[in-house]
Amino acid sequence: MNRKKITILLPAYNEESSFDELERCMAQVLRENPDYDWEFLMVNDGSRDNTLQQMIRLHNQDPQHYSYLNLSRNYGKEIALMAGFDYVKSDAMIIMDIDMQHPVDVIPEMTKYWEEGYDDVYAQRKSSKESWLKRNTSKAYYRVLQRLTRVPIQKDTGDFRLLDRSCIEALKQLRETERNTKGLYSWIGFKKKGVLYEQKERLFGESKWSFMQLLELAINGFSSYTVAPLRISTVLGLVVSFAAFLYLIFILVQTLIWGDPVAGYPTIMVTILFLGGVQLLSIGIIGEYLGKVFMETKNRPNYFVESYNGERCSEIK
Ligand code: UDP
Ligand code: MG
Repeated sequence: MNRKKITILLPAYNEESSFDELERCMAQVLRENPDYDWEFLMVNDGSRDNTLQQMIRLHNQDPQHYSYLNLSRNYGKEIALMAGFDYVKSDAMIIMDIDMQHPVDVIPEMTKYWEEGYDDVYAQRKSSKESWLKRNTSKAYYRVLQRLTRVPIQKDTGDFRLLDRSCIEALKQLRETERNTKGLYSWIGFKKKGVLYEQKERLFGESKWSFMQLLELAINGFSSYTVAPLRISTVLGLVVSFAAFLYLIFILVQTLIWGDPVAGYPTIMVTILFLGGVQLLSIGIIGEYLGKVFMETKNRPNYFVESYNGERCSEIK
């Protein structure tokens, strides 16, 4: 019987210091999982340090297992993953961070469930070493998001997961530019199973996410999942207008019965400012979606590949 092949997909941006650990972990994968053929596909997402040189070194050292894809610039992790999906030819793939915060010891359990027929075996964080604030904001975020959409969302999971060929093919068809890949895994469905793992601390380098990027990811999460915010702004508009209408009647009656002189600078200011705020917010929400439409209608390719295993690519996906 032919052995099944699994690709470990490793996006990397300025990760030159992670490669010793990577080599150690991948050696462990090969040692502990001899029943499969392994490929380690590293995607260089426009790093400005020696990440590419390290990839070339590994590929030359062991071309059977290590391959690399060099993107033409830094596109962000989501697009780097997408590029990776297009180049995975195996029966399954496992997505991991190249900083090796994801422990390779979970892999045997993942493949076990895969063999049992699960298509998407996702790793779920047992305890997170992130700060209290980051932990709780992410918790609240997922709760709200789940309320607004019918697609079931897996909590405390990220990109660390094993995906069967059928999921890879499905993901390859979702070509949107502004991606929230976590949402896409849920959206495509298929048989899912969670396994628990303990997230490790980053050993080298630093986290590549700035606050603004996290915010962008969060907003994208909402706007690529659901149009509920548009509806919320409609409802909010209705509620505010209705309240304003009631207040109008109140003022009318007050003036007619008691004949109060007009004295209302503070009320007018508060009302104008409040309504102005609500309007700006609603316009902003519409803008978010409109911006998405704009980006998608440009219909640009999502990424360009500079080279694959050292060969320059003229082919564009
Ligand atoms: N990454 C990437 N492109 C980017 C930013 C990050 O390919 O523009 C990769 C990075 O090299 C790492 C993974 O995405 O392998 C996760 O990034 P990081 O460790 O910085 O995120 P965190 O673990 O803090 O969520
Ligand atoms: Mg990390």
